[in-house]
Amino acid sequence: MNVVSFEKNLRIAGLQKNSTVDFPGLLSAVVFFAGCNFRCYYCHNSAILDSAADGLPLLRVGEVMDFLDRRRGLLDGVVISGGEATLQQGLYAFAKNVKAMGYKVKLDTNGSRPETVASLLDGGLLDFVAVDYKAPFRMYGEVGGGPAAHEAAGRVLETFGLLRDAGVPYEIRVTMIPEITEKALAEMAESLPRLERFALQLYRPTGDDGRLRPVGDEEAGRGQPYTPTDLERLAKGIRYAQPNVTVR
Ligand code: SF4
Repeated sequence: MNVVSFEKNLRIAGLQKNSTVDFPGLLSAVVFFAGCNFRCYYCHNSAILDSAADGLPLLRVGEVMDFLDRRRGLLDGVVISGGEATLQQGLYAFAKNVKAMGYKVKLDTNGSRPETVASLLDGGLLDFVAVDYKAPFRMYGEVGGGPAAHEAAGRVLETFGLLRDAGVPYEIRVTMIPEITEKALAEMAESLPRLERFALQLYRPTGDDGRLRPVGDEEAGRGQPYTPTDLERLAKGIRYAQPNVTVR
């Protein structure tokens, strides 16, 4: 396979060779691309957010493609994750080559690059998309990843809109950080049409985020992470707006 044409435009920081949980219903490999335009305090991949960082170990694209080539028929899908993969200039070519191997392709994204998502969708290169909904958009800069996230809020909304019209299965997922109150979650749930897939994810502190305290109004956060039981209760509370909400 000739990967020279797009290898220089891709920075791959990691490869998970087997996953049963990242692509609904499929056994998949997960490719982690380096670099992200957001800086969420709770990010579990903070080591790969600066794609130009000195000493960031990168995998050779050719090795990753060879691995995927060898696993044809053994794996069903490839998850494009990160970091924020849509920042990669060579992503279209990467997805096209992976698709040509017969894999189903899933994209994990923060939604800040709707033009890239649109291009991948137009090319028929995506079989599933998962988009983060960080917080009510007015809070995006505060808890959703800094100034770039604040500026990106409108583009995330655009990504939600184009997925609604694309006919490809997609999921919108919320990591339930303490700052997302019941009221804020209701606001988020009501801001979307009824979705087939709307997921609340347990927030797992990284240990060094130092943000387990309320931000903003009195109701905001509880200073402690939500528990799985809390998430079930919160999900129940938004079923009027998102009847298909799930918890994980
Ligand atoms: S958008 Fe995702 S990868 Fe980027 S900082 Fe936030 S959690 Fe990490």
